[in-house]
Amino acid sequence: MAKVEPALAIHGGAGTIPASALDPAGADAHHAALRAALAAGWDILGGGGTALDAVAAAVCVMEDDPLFNAGRGAVFTAAGALEMDAAIMDGETRAAGAVAVICGPRNPILAARAVMADSGTVFLAGAGAELFLRDQDIAFMPPDYFFTQRRRDALKLELSRRASGAPDTRSDADRHGTVGAVARDAHGNLAAGTSTGGMTAKPPGRIGDCPVIGAGTFADNATCAVSTTGTGEVFIRFTAAAEIAARIRHAGQSLDRAASDVVAELLNRGGDGGLIAIGPAGPPVLPFNCSGMYRGFCTADGVFHTAIHREEYRR
Ligand code: ASP
Repeated sequence: MAKVEPALAIHGGAGTIPASALDPAGADAHHAALRAALAAGWDILGGGGTALDAVAAAVCVMEDDPLFNAGRGAVFTAAGALEMDAAIMDGETRAAGAVAVICGPRNPILAARAVMADSGTVFLAGAGAELFLRDQDIAFMPPDYFFTQRRRDALKLELSRRASGAPDTRSDADRHGTVGAVARDAHGNLAAGTSTGGMTAKPPGRIGDCPVIGAGTFADNATCAVSTTGTGEVFIRFTAAAEIAARIRHAGQSLDRAASDVVAELLNRGGDGGLIAIGPAGPPVLPFNCSGMYRGFCTADGVFHTAIHREEYRR
C-alpha cells in the first residue's frame, strides 16, 4: 500500500476582524494562536497518531484561546447566556458525536468526543447533555472562565441596535465565529471537528450548523473531511459538508472543485463564510466567500501556513 502523507488544516472562523481594524500586533496574535493549534495537531500526526486525536488537540487549543468564538471567548445569546455547540467525526468508521446548547465543559470538542465514545447516541443537547457529561472524564469550568468583555460589548451593541431598528452594519468579528480542524493521518484516516459559541445575540436554544453532522462537520475516508464556518442556518439547509462529499462521490468532482463551488453557491443563498476540507490524498483546501477566515494548514513538509484575509500565507 502506498504511504499516506498526513495533512492538517484548521480554521478560527469566518468572523474575522476587518483588515482595516486589525493592527500588526493583533494580526501577530491571531497568527500565533493559529500556529499553536497547528503545532498541537501536527505533533500528533507527525508521531503516527490518529486524525481524530489531532483534530481534537488542535480544536482544544483554539477553544482555550479567547481570541476565538468557541469555549473561552464564546459569544452571548440574546439573553446574555453562553450556549456552545461542537461536533467531531471519524472518517474511518463514520462514528460521530455532537453537543449543543451547553456551557460547562472547558472543551466542548471533548464533550462531543465523549458523546461519540460513550453515550450510545450521536447528539446530546442542553440539560440532558450536561447530565451525561458530568459523568465523563472531562474538565468543567465555572461560567466566569468563558466570559470576555469583548463579547459582552458586542452583545450590548447588537441589542441596542435591534431596539433602535438601525441597519446591521456590524463587522463579521462582532457577529459570529467558530473553530475547526480536519486531518488525514498516516493510516489514511480522515477526521473533522468543529466548535462554536454561535452567533452573537442568537435566540436562546438556537443551534447552528457546527454540531449538525453533514452540515458543519462531516468525515468519510472515501471522500473528505469538512469543517465549516459562517451563517449556520444556510449551511444547515444546504447540508454544506455532506454536499461536498456527495459531489465527489456521485459526480466524480475533485475536492477543490466541489468545495469551492459549494462555498460560492452558499453565498448566493445568503450563506457567507467558508470551510476547510481534506481528502484521501493531496493538500487541504480552505475556500471562503467573505472578507476573511482565520486559517492554517500543514502538509508533509511540516511547514505551517497561516492567513487571515486574502493576503499571502505566512510561513
Ligand atoms: N456557523 C456558526 C453558527 O452558525 C457561526 C460561525 O461559524 O461563524 O453557529
